Amino acid sequence: MRVFWVLFWVLAVAALFAIAIALTGGFALPDRLTAVFFQVQPWLPITFELEHFLVVLVVASLLLAALGFAVSGAVVSRLLLRQSRKLGEVAAARREGERTQELHLQQYDQLGSLGQILSGQLDKRALAQHIVEAASRFTSLPQSSSLASLWILHFETDTFRFERGFYCDEALFTKTVFELNEPPFAQLVSTQQPWITVEAGVWKPLVKAEKADRLGAATGLMLIPLIIENSVLGVLAVFCHPEVVKAAGRHSAFYAAVWAELTLALAIAVQGEVAILDRLTGVHNREYFMKRLIQEIERADRYHLPLSLLMIDIDNFKPVNDTLGHQQGDAVLKIIAKLIKKAVRAIDLVGRYGGEEFIVMLPETGYGDEAGASGGALTVAERIRKAVDEEFRGLQKPLNLTISLGAAARRFPEDRAMGHQDLIRHADEQLYQAKTTGKNKVCLFQPEKPQQVS
Ligand code: GH3
Ligand code: MG
Ligand code: MG
Repeated sequence: MRVFWVLFWVLAVAALFAIAIALTGGFALPDRLTAVFFQVQPWLPITFELEHFLVVLVVASLLLAALGFAVSGAVVSRLLLRQSRKLGEVAAARREGERTQELHLQQYDQLGSLGQILSGQLDKRALAQHIVEAASRFTSLPQSSSLASLWILHFETDTFRFERGFYCDEALFTKTVFELNEPPFAQLVSTQQPWITVEAGVWKPLVKAEKADRLGAATGLMLIPLIIENSVLGVLAVFCHPEVVKAAGRHSAFYAAVWAELTLALAIAVQGEVAILDRLTGVHNREYFMKRLIQEIERADRYHLPLSLLMIDIDNFKPVNDTLGHQQGDAVLKIIAKLIKKAVRAIDLVGRYGGEEFIVMLPETGYGDEAGASGGALTVAERIRKAVDEEFRGLQKPLNLTISLGAAARRFPEDRAMGHQDLIRHADEQLYQAKTTGKNKVCLFQPEKPQQVS
């Protein structure tokens, strides 16, 4: 190799000489070459004939020319390659653009058909099934299917419960009921924002360790709160391939539309329940309560049964809102609603009558025994009052809350003429009585005269 390079340089120098002489000497090149030859001959290590010298020069020139061709060819071909690469990139970008557009069209198409599928369903189970199927389909890759699960928020208990899964069932999860403030749902409730992550081990609060291999390549997690009018209806927990998580940012508008569609479906799915429940407190709403009260009065007449009603108003509640904020006020309302529910039987009905007023219907309950206490409306009312009193006792103002209650009973057959509005009016008058005579007390309507018990 080394010999080759030495030879190459000797030839190159000789060729340069020849070119220089040709350029400077014009047509007298042979004479000049001869003169040069005789000048350098004494310096050459071997004896050289003039003819040989000329042959070497010619060969060297030819080789140099060939080398020139080769080098320029290489340069040109490299330039061409670069150019064609650039053209390739432009074409690829165009193809990518076309693909993106195609993808968008496909996505709109999918969204359209999703809307159609969902709007054709009213049954809760079928809708829940469609929701998880769609969530899985929209986040799956050909090589990795997503595991989608739907968790519905139950207002009565403030818990998220596993409702349905696709490529997974409840056996995958550590629990099927999560409290509102438990990870990973707590974060979604407070931020009301999706939580999309590829963090290692993020599945741990949700998935049983021994079942983790069922996730396969779907180690990314999308937790999507399904929200309507600032209220979380449920959460979609979707385990998907990390690539999908990464792409979710690029297709954020599309995914937002998908989640919105699924939220609407969920709203329809749970509407049967939402329509009768108060969204803040989870007790029944006023409309449903009234309907049931009218029905229960009819039933009481048919079966010759008594029925009682309690009206409840929180004492000095306004300062909670004013000093601690509306959110704290809402939290208090939730707590008191729960205490009321806990203090009554399953067949009793608790409703939210207005802002911070509750109403309780006690079927098959009247004034109680002759002593006027045990088993009657008063007993239940007192139990509720005490439960609230104990819960907030010792807290600083304005959280040292109490409630006032007005109670009225409808006896059978004496009060057959008493309609639901009369019953409410009697209880409400007693509530007013309790408020104006010191609060934190129960007042019971008596047909003859109001009776007051503290
Ligand atoms: P009183 O002892 O006489 O009942 O006094 P109060 O301060 O409780 O007065 P009132 O019953 O008139 O107060 C009702 C307050 O309830 C006013 C309103 O700000 C609050 N409220 C009504 N609905 C809601 C609600 O949904 N959330 C919250 N945070 N506050 C509510
Ligand atoms: Mg009030
Ligand atoms: Mg009040």
